Amino acid sequence: PNGPSVLHVRDLDVAYGRALTALRGVCLEVPAGGAVALLGANGAGKSTLLRSLSGTLRLHRGAITAGSVHYGDVRLTGQDPVAAVRAGVVQVPEGRRVFAGLTVDENLRAGGLGLGRRAPAVVKAAREQVFGLFPRLAERRAQRAGLLSGGEQQMLAIGRALMAAPRLLLLDEPSLGLAPLMVERIAEVIREINEQGTSILLVEQNAAMALALSDHAYVLEVGEVRLAGPAAELARTDAVRRLYLGEE
Ligand code: ATP
Repeated sequence: PNGPSVLHVRDLDVAYGRALTALRGVCLEVPAGGAVALLGANGAGKSTLLRSLSGTLRLHRGAITAGSVHYGDVRLTGQDPVAAVRAGVVQVPEGRRVFAGLTVDENLRAGGLGLGRRAPAVVKAAREQVFGLFPRLAERRAQRAGLLSGGEQQMLAIGRALMAAPRLLLLDEPSLGLAPLMVERIAEVIREINEQGTSILLVEQNAAMALALSDHAYVLEVGEVRLAGPAAELARTDAVRRLYLGEE
């Protein structure tokens, strides 16, 4: 929709062990600078798809058995997380996993690891972006992450991912378990990150939030893409309204 796609997922099959096929024939695109939502019920394969992009699938004993993932010209199929981060594809893990025993600052510094030596100006710009988006994290810089509220930990998880200066940010259920006000705040920040030029692929149970933020959306059902299209159009379909937006 907004120009050339940068992420191309083609005919992707993913399996856990021999028996369980978690994704089948999945095709998906994220345009440069776009925001794409990925909806689906529990177990539909949303997390599996993100793991296939960020190189973390193997950590969960899964494997790509067919198809391909490319970010621009870089083939990500079967690559490890460092390769994905180097290509500009960074995942914010589900469950706002932060290092509870480390300070906010230390968590943020961990976000650039694996990228090798980077120009100080690049790291500084990333920190300034994070503290600009999350003034709260700047105030709590020296505090241990385990002492932050749930919403602040989600902010930190996003901030840590931003420290790697991603071109495509993968978010897995950022609204999960947060109070409505905090969900709104996180939604605003995701929109801002997108406006600052980072493409977004957003997995959400909160379909209303995800569709409001995105220009394009996909619905996964039992490992396959069932619906895809402009977010505003999907939000008007009966299936999405009934199953994902909780309307009659
Ligand atoms: P949720 O919102 O519950 O995370 P999801 O849409 O992200 O759901 P996945 O977590 O990708 O779904 O799971 C897709 C399928 O793969 C499910 O049947 C799930 O049980 C299975 N699965 C996920 N992770 C593993 C794993 N590490 N080993 C075996 N099976 C797995």
